[in-house]
Amino acid sequence: MRFYRSQQLIRQDLEAHIYSQAMLANVSGLKNLCKDETKFCAVIKANAYGHGISETVNILKKADVDFFAVASIYEAIHILGMVKKQTILILEPINTTYSPDQVTICARKGIHCVLSSAEDLGFVSETLSTGKSVLRVHVNIESGMGRNGLDAELASGLIERIDRCPNTSLAGVYTHLATADEEDLSYAYVQLEKFNRFLDENSIRDRDDVIIHAANSAATIKIPESHFDMVRCGIAIYGYYSRPMSDPPVKLTPAMKLQAPIVKLKNIAAGDSVSYGRSFIPGRDTAVAIVPLGYADGYWRSFSNRAKMKVGDSVVSVVGRVCMDQVLIDVTDVPNVAVGQMVTIIDNDHRSPCGAYALAELAGTICYEIPICVHAHVNRIVH
Ligand SMILES: *Cc1c(COP(=O)(O)O)cnc(C)c1O
Repeated sequence: MRFYRSQQLIRQDLEAHIYSQAMLANVSGLKNLCKDETKFCAVIKANAYGHGISETVNILKKADVDFFAVASIYEAIHILGMVKKQTILILEPINTTYSPDQVTICARKGIHCVLSSAEDLGFVSETLSTGKSVLRVHVNIESGMGRNGLDAELASGLIERIDRCPNTSLAGVYTHLATADEEDLSYAYVQLEKFNRFLDENSIRDRDDVIIHAANSAATIKIPESHFDMVRCGIAIYGYYSRPMSDPPVKLTPAMKLQAPIVKLKNIAAGDSVSYGRSFIPGRDTAVAIVPLGYADGYWRSFSNRAKMKVGDSVVSVVGRVCMDQVLIDVTDVPNVAVGQMVTIIDNDHRSPCGAYALAELAGTICYEIPICVHAHVNRIVH
């Protein structure tokens, strides 16, 4: 198995501080919302929502986490050597593009896979038929997400085949909720009703070895009836509610702060322009600072002339267009500003003018996309 991380370019000057205590406290806060016996699956796809997959696994492997969920076989293999206590679950259904080696690794190493068709079951069964290893599979029930779940009839048929196949065993039955983050939860309850009907009609609850799961972060926080045997939390581990909540039952703290140093200071005379397109022309003589990060690093171009950053305690404005790897801020009113001083670009505070919620609002997106876009070459510094 090859680990390519060490060969990767790291920009030491771009610092994504990752706070283990915050992440661990978020996990225990979320677990406190569940029954003692409810398993906890930490979703670490998308480079752990930008927090660094290896760093996050290292922080959470000592926590009371039962599963790590990843999107692909590649992430599963990447973390395999780091994980002892937890089980890895690959969310993308296993399929015929897998090499025989990949199928075998999943079976031998106990990596759980999602299975979504009889054809894929045939492929798995054929690949494993020469050996004794058994692949543990989960079946996704379509209850209203409308993505890759299976309708009830297909799912029952597939479960029968899994039970008959000597090289597969049913380890999980789950569904995914489409609207758990919204104020109106009525559709989520319709989905749960459909899912419950499936569980009853197929006597899934009688099977002790099958883990039933449905809840993402929002459902873990807001819908106790969705917890079943395990919750699958992504965004909440990293300290965010799927969308800002006014009176949340659990306190979450952002686990990342993105910073970079001021590399240059310069004065712009009133009436002169700054950066591409001359979109900022100050009305007063202005001190600007250059921060060596841009849209290539995950700092959105749509933040141009709109976003805030922090220099010490001063809130400053991004001025002019965000470039590929540079951005300018107005530091005229910052006392004792100096080259080398650190600038906070994404703050680890929900109410901060440069927190992920504020930035997401500016970019017209959800908070997920803000830390996730922080490029893999940004230095993750674990505290
Ligand atoms: C990504 C994902 C999650 C985690 O969702 P959050 O909203 O980040 O908690 C849970 N389940 C599945 C199937 C997912 O794909």
